[in-house]
Amino acid sequence: MSGNEGAAAGTTAEAPAADGAATTGGGAAAGWGDGTRVVHSAPVAPGQPFLAGPVFASAYHLGGEDTYGRAHNPTWRALEAALGELDGGTAVLFPSGMAAISTLLRVVLAPGDTVVVPGDGYYLTRTLVAEMPVRVVEAPTAGPYPSFEGVRLVLLESPSNPGLEVCDIAALARAAHAAGALVAVDNTTATPLGQQPLRLGADVVVGSDTKAVAGHSDVLLGHVSTADQDLAGRVRAARTTGGAIPGPFESWLAHRGLGTLDLRLTRQAENAAALYEVLKDHPAVTGLRWPGSPEDPAHEVAARQMRRFGGVLTFVLADAAAVGAFLERSRLVYASTSFGGLHTTLDRRAHWGDPVPEGLVRLSAGCEDTADLVADVLASL
Ligand SMILES: *Cc1c(COP(=O)(O)O)cnc(C)c1O
Repeated sequence: MSGNEGAAAGTTAEAPAADGAATTGGGAAAGWGDGTRVVHSAPVAPGQPFLAGPVFASAYHLGGEDTYGRAHNPTWRALEAALGELDGGTAVLFPSGMAAISTLLRVVLAPGDTVVVPGDGYYLTRTLVAEMPVRVVEAPTAGPYPSFEGVRLVLLESPSNPGLEVCDIAALARAAHAAGALVAVDNTTATPLGQQPLRLGADVVVGSDTKAVAGHSDVLLGHVSTADQDLAGRVRAARTTGGAIPGPFESWLAHRGLGTLDLRLTRQAENAAALYEVLKDHPAVTGLRWPGSPEDPAHEVAARQMRRFGGVLTFVLADAAAVGAFLERSRLVYASTSFGGLHTTLDRRAHWGDPVPEGLVRLSAGCEDTADLVADVLASL
């Protein structure tokens, strides 16, 4: 569990609280495993519920630390403390992954700056920077990368969505820092339990918690984490002035979901591993990718920098009609354009305009029983 060491921030509250009541939290400092850390990701005081309910307030009775609902909310703070502890930094919560990414870009980029973005990563990030008054350089996640001289921000995404390509975050961070660039990593696919970019040398983590972190296909949310307190403060201030704030109920639902992230990721990865085994030699399937498999070309780099693998696989069927027929036959795999949820879902990315083969699908293994899922997928192919 070497990845747990040296958390830069988070709650360190095994010490008794001021009134003498024991609280819990601060998993990395305590050396706890993933399951313990997410279950104990909210402090629990005697007489209080295990996860305090959402606080709904537009304005507060002044006198405490909270003034106005666009700036302060205790439900956000609880989830930010939990995510910051897992990331090894200070987290700032946003109402979606894109709100997190767009706010970070607005804070760190000035007109005329150069930004490097993944050419094969999440498509809306490219759409977003194309609309900004900056110079955009696209690089494939697996490389080669351009020189980072004169670059303000290098945004990486590993594993990338949808191709599941992997980049060496530590090596790229060293190269970017040598050129004076800032490094951000979109960690959505890996989740904070799967990969800790701040500990690999990145300056900032951004991500969508809509996917596996919240995990139940019912919430949109995102966050930015950084160990740079000045940058965290500027991102938080930009949220307050920009006004794109998360809802307390959504924040609470995501925090509730976070408690089972370890369990869900474990089952999803088991299911992905089992599906990989039956798909890899299947005549209807080509281009199978899952970085968790030792047979995957990205496995070596992925295994060096990831703590665990998730449930998302990518592969190619003959064409769009073959994907449609698969979905029609399947009783367990739903067409859906997200991933990381309880249910196994499949998304044909060309449907959304990704520059990929017509039959390329991203399959997100859910939490169903492995035998049921494998049988269903084989029967449907
Ligand atoms: C989904 C996703 C986003 C956007 O997140 P939303 O919560 O949908 O706004 C950003 N990056 C990656 C890699 C994603 O998969």
